Amino acid sequence: MTCVAVALLAACGNAKQITARANNFKYTVEQFADLQILRYRVPGFEKLSLQQKKLVYYLTEAALQGRDILFDQNGKYNLTIRRTLEAVYTGYKGDRTSADFKAMEIYLKRVWFSNGIHHHYGSEKFVPGFAPEFFKQAILSIDKKLLSLSSGQSPEQLFDVISPVIFDPAIMPKRVNQAAGEDLIKTSACNYYDGLTQQEAEDFYNALKNPSDETPISYGLNSRLVKVNGKVEEKVWKVGGLYGAAIEKIVYWLKKAEAVAENPEQKAVIEKLVDFYNTGDLKTFDDYAILWLKDINSLIDFVNGFTESYGDPLGMKASWESLVNFKDLDATHRTEIISGNAQWFEDHSPVDKQFKKEKVKGVTAKVITAAILAGDLYPATAIGINLPNSNWIRSQHGSKSVTIGNITDAYNKAAHGSGFDEEFVVSPKELELINSYADLTDELHTDLHECLGHGSGKLLPGVDPDALKAYGSTIEEARADLFGLYYVADKKLVDLGLTPNMDAYKAEYYKYLMNGLMTQLVRIVPGNSIEEAHMRNRQLIARWVYEKGKPQNVVELIKKNGKTYVVINDYQKLRHLFGELLAEIQRIKSTGDYAAAHDLVEDYAVKVDPVLHAEILERYKKLNLAPYKGFVNPKYEPVLGSNGEIKDVKVVYDEGYTEQMLRYSKDYSTLPSWN
Ligand code: ZN
Repeated sequence: MTCVAVALLAACGNAKQITARANNFKYTVEQFADLQILRYRVPGFEKLSLQQKKLVYYLTEAALQGRDILFDQNGKYNLTIRRTLEAVYTGYKGDRTSADFKAMEIYLKRVWFSNGIHHHYGSEKFVPGFAPEFFKQAILSIDKKLLSLSSGQSPEQLFDVISPVIFDPAIMPKRVNQAAGEDLIKTSACNYYDGLTQQEAEDFYNALKNPSDETPISYGLNSRLVKVNGKVEEKVWKVGGLYGAAIEKIVYWLKKAEAVAENPEQKAVIEKLVDFYNTGDLKTFDDYAILWLKDINSLIDFVNGFTESYGDPLGMKASWESLVNFKDLDATHRTEIISGNAQWFEDHSPVDKQFKKEKVKGVTAKVITAAILAGDLYPATAIGINLPNSNWIRSQHGSKSVTIGNITDAYNKAAHGSGFDEEFVVSPKELELINSYADLTDELHTDLHECLGHGSGKLLPGVDPDALKAYGSTIEEARADLFGLYYVADKKLVDLGLTPNMDAYKAEYYKYLMNGLMTQLVRIVPGNSIEEAHMRNRQLIARWVYEKGKPQNVVELIKKNGKTYVVINDYQKLRHLFGELLAEIQRIKSTGDYAAAHDLVEDYAVKVDPVLHAEILERYKKLNLAPYKGFVNPKYEPVLGSNGEIKDVKVVYDEGYTEQMLRYSKDYSTLPSWN
């Protein structure tokens, strides 16, 4: 699970002037459309040994080599469109200050950010601000050699192919469609299925699944499902298969990393991953995941592969991502306290006993320092990650949970003085709570969500882990969030020294409800409903406690000077409601109650009140903030000795957003335009 707890933070504001600095480090880079680009630091890198620095360097190279895979996974025209835009952007000799050119530049920046032509979060297709006529003459005017033309193709034909995809709003309108009742495959633009219906895809995988298999592989995880001559088959992503050219390069760098691994356990992990990339065998992938779980003593760790399935409307096919990191030893102390008490938390949760784990296993948790973000974690990233995703591996072997300390830090540093809370928080009393405690309680909520929430509870025997289908992700995120909300208010946290007093949690409660009931709507286009799983989960929770608490007036939405505000009248009753919903959500998950999941999500999580939505957008607009954030990566520069050996690796923070994207497109262009 990649947990975008960051969305909360991200919606909470940022620097109005894009000049936030701390210790002379510039955390902000630029702002455009609904996006702000930040920069993060990698403190502690200098202190690594030479061997560890080499390991990080090789793994970051392996990370960057996968970039094109994600573009292609997100839509089959994405690589061609990106390359055409880049060709025009770098080669256009006409007026580069015209409104059309400027709008195309913004569009290209958005394509880079989303790894495709659909919004990274809402998944709707971008509306280009430049004219097709401009784009056509620009393509025809530049040096033909800059364009990535398929054989025999003219620039004009290239334009004819991509123009409708960019400009016609009816073509590929959504990357991931989750609207109930529609064929989710036919109506989703993602490139995971080709030429078949949702029913055919579901039939194909249902036929493979054996309900009595207690250690099932993650069916469909690493392939595109296609129908060729009436036959449905998988095209597997592996060396020699689909995306083979990129995967070969990833493997090349992984092998270099293997040679400088910190210890035999880590070496075995890398070896097994290479084996998986070579064979595409999903049983090997599970073996790799188990080895990865056992590698807990290395300072450096990484994710590299087909990991999260949020981009597949059926939740099976995984997008490619990579994260290279090393442990932040001081901050990890906090999550170790939480993990160390995992059984206590499980035992005392309000969940029905039959759905609890008798023994909570292997909840390792650490705070990490990200060294590079790549694939589906770049430029927008999660701040918490919990892997692996396989249910049986999680219950038999546990999971690794991380929160990314230097990313959280960059958000916080960039957020000072945005005016966001001043606009949306109801009174100085709540504002003071938030200013005093929210940084801390946000982090704690993320820790609880990651370290305990996802790892808690169990499925009843025989329950299909995919039983909740399209509602599975939302229910899972709600489960983890509720676990965190319930416990952030527990006196146990004060006893453990994690919160200073019994008021601190109120900051988290207030921000959570304000976000779920109102302010996350700044990310939704008027007229749209909520699609993204984490946003659905937050509205589900906030709306549910709001409705259920009405008889006792637990939470109110009040009007002051024509503006809507959240008021929490009874924090303890609110906690009780979170507990009640947690018990119900865990029951739904444990029993695979699809009908109940459907009703909860459709009743509370999806619909948007248009009047409130318009008001929030209007108030937000005046703040001139960007609701989404992403990052540029640092550069790692090896210092070579006289024999070409690596003597040192320097981390450099001087690259701009466009500069970095163009460099990546040039140096890590691993795939053909059509795959
Ligand atoms: Zn999560």
